Amino acid sequence: MEPFDLKGKVALVTGGNGGIGLGIAKGLARAGADVAIAGRNADKNAAAVKALGGRSIGVAADVNDAAAVKRMVADTVKAFGGLDILVANAGINIRKPPQDYSAEEWRQVVDTNLNSVFACCQAAYPEMKRRGGGKIVTIGSMTSIFGLALGSAYASTKGAVVQLSKSLAIAWAKDNIQVNSILPGWIDTDLTRGARQQIPGLNERILQGTPAGRWGEPADLAGTAVFFCSRASDFVTGTALPVDGGYSSSIF
Ligand code: NDP
Repeated sequence: MEPFDLKGKVALVTGGNGGIGLGIAKGLARAGADVAIAGRNADKNAAAVKALGGRSIGVAADVNDAAAVKRMVADTVKAFGGLDILVANAGINIRKPPQDYSAEEWRQVVDTNLNSVFACCQAAYPEMKRRGGGKIVTIGSMTSIFGLALGSAYASTKGAVVQLSKSLAIAWAKDNIQVNSILPGWIDTDLTRGARQQIPGLNERILQGTPAGRWGEPADLAGTAVFFCSRASDFVTGTALPVDGGYSSSIF
């Protein structure tokens, strides 16, 4: 297990208080990392910290607030003495046909899923540089590959986040910072529970389109995240790895 050992490493997971973020945070903690999770909802943060146990803290932060993003990084560094790992996971979707988006709704999705990822990475960079390196994981989606009729804003951000990650990977390779994206398939979380309620037949379509024959669980993302956050991936940067039960490899 030595190449995957995260003992002594400090991780910050945005949106780590639930869903995929919490699944990843649990994986990082199990591999030995000290973990800070950030989200807006203080109650959810407290419950997640309890679930994580060990050395973990919750930071109340809205990733769309530039000052809060800086504070979130500073609080993590203050609590654990540095920052080695950032998982920029917080994200939202607003489901409607493209012609129905208000400018504000479009901006809300782009701010949360793309602009905040850049802001978090930028805030983490000096701390990682100070440590002599770091690991950044961004979260794309199947919509980094495919379009989404009822999620044009979401798909636009998830395509862009991959290109952002590649650009950061190239720019910061000399600083020994590796940047990779995980592209989750269909994972059972609050986000997709809403979609299932809103879109009739979605559940059956996902089950048919996923060769593994099931929805993913947040824990399914933990192994890939540990890999991308550990020494095991030191020569892996700028990649985007689907974790999707085969969804993106299958035409039926
Ligand atoms: P959830 O809705 O379950 O969780 C979203 C998380 O993001 C929550 O912890 C929420 O915490 C946090 N969050 C949302 N907005 C903000 C904000 N402005 N500031 C800080 N935190 C915020 O979603 P998932 O776990 O499903 O999604 C996590 C990521 O994975 C997203 O980027 C999503 O796009 C991506 N993804 C999900 C897939 C799926 O099938 N579920 C598939 C592909 C990608 P709080 O409300 O407390 O702020």
